[in-house]
Amino acid sequence: MSEEKYQKVAQSIVKAGRLPFPINNTLLEILRILIDEDELDFIIKTYKRKFSLTLAEIKKRSGMEEEQILYKIESLAKKGVIFNQPNRQGIMVYRLLPLIMVGSFEYTFMKTLKFSDDEKEIAVLFKKLFDEVKEVVHSKYDAILPVFKSFPPIDRTIAILDKNVAGNEIEISINMEIDPPEEEILLTQNVVDLINKFEKIAVGHCFCRHYKDLLSEPCKQTNIRENCLTFGKSANYITEQGFGRIISREEALKILKDSEDAGLVHKAFHVHEDLTKDETSICNCCFDCCATFEFWREGVLPMMNSTNHLAEINKEICIGCETCIEKCPINSISLIDGDKAEVNKDICLGCGVCAHFCPEGAINLLKGRRTLFIEPLV
Ligand code: SF4
Ligand code: SF4
Ligand code: SF4
Repeated sequence: MSEEKYQKVAQSIVKAGRLPFPINNTLLEILRILIDEDELDFIIKTYKRKFSLTLAEIKKRSGMEEEQILYKIESLAKKGVIFNQPNRQGIMVYRLLPLIMVGSFEYTFMKTLKFSDDEKEIAVLFKKLFDEVKEVVHSKYDAILPVFKSFPPIDRTIAILDKNVAGNEIEISINMEIDPPEEEILLTQNVVDLINKFEKIAVGHCFCRHYKDLLSEPCKQTNIRENCLTFGKSANYITEQGFGRIISREEALKILKDSEDAGLVHKAFHVHEDLTKDETSICNCCFDCCATFEFWREGVLPMMNSTNHLAEINKEICIGCETCIEKCPINSISLIDGDKAEVNKDICLGCGVCAHFCPEGAINLLKGRRTLFIEPLV
């Protein structure tokens, strides 16, 4: 009987997200660790078709008393299964979270780890599940591709605009050639401005690196762990649930600076992946562990990204040292004619990491909105 219940809950959790996870034994094993039998009944009664509900709606659907409901919600929120924050009108809304982007995967690994058996087991199960998703995507790639193409960008790259290692400003010039032109939306394009936009900022651990730590595959790029910044409601949620802590603007800026010096990529996430809405968070991603980079590299997901920049190399200055090739998170730079770097404009994320590290100051950024859809490496 409980097998059937876990199946039902798995279906709701998959529907609450947008990635086509197979409902298989691995997914059910993950849910068995995360959700107990009482909570199963609550989710089954409550979350059918609609995944964001007010308390009044939950009472009607579940037939439970308010006190019992809030007790269940508190427990599920602590596990990153339910997001409990007020909507724009100030009414508390309880949203069933998906498995990933953003859901149980992120919140399970964002908190301080104990390296417990459960944490290690859940990491192994997620790895197994991602491998299984990879197989599904590979076997049905042509059918799934249009579905991916209908998705909005998952994240938005924000370029490093600080001085480069040579101590020079990174030049930004308008590039009228970036194509196709897109409807202009005023987006914050500088991490300092972004930090200054929000009153409340919290930091949590990098869940991707924590996940890899639990798999005994620690990040090869950086030792930084506490560097996922969240704002507003997301900051409230992660601190209330014990996944992170509130920090000052100064600390946030230091985290961003340290991340830049470690060659990490700033990626902003928006409410419901809608670029016209506020940012919920900014991640500082390593190529080694970041789930979106890894999913792309391993053929699970295309890179679906929005950016406002494109790297441009001044070949007069470039000495062919290959630093930018080593630092680029997406292998979009190669040497031509033996000693001049060249950027593949179709896949450049505009992150500015190459410009930040070029010892000759030979890389600048062109400005102009682009949406990238880079098919996964298969
Ligand atoms: S998305 Fe980036 S910063 Fe965020 S958890 Fe993953 S690697 Fe870390
Ligand atoms: S880091 Fe700068 S100098 Fe070195 S290859 Fe790249 S562009 Fe050229
Ligand atoms: S070339 Fe690579 S490192 Fe440079 S901006 Fe583009 S994606 Fe980033």
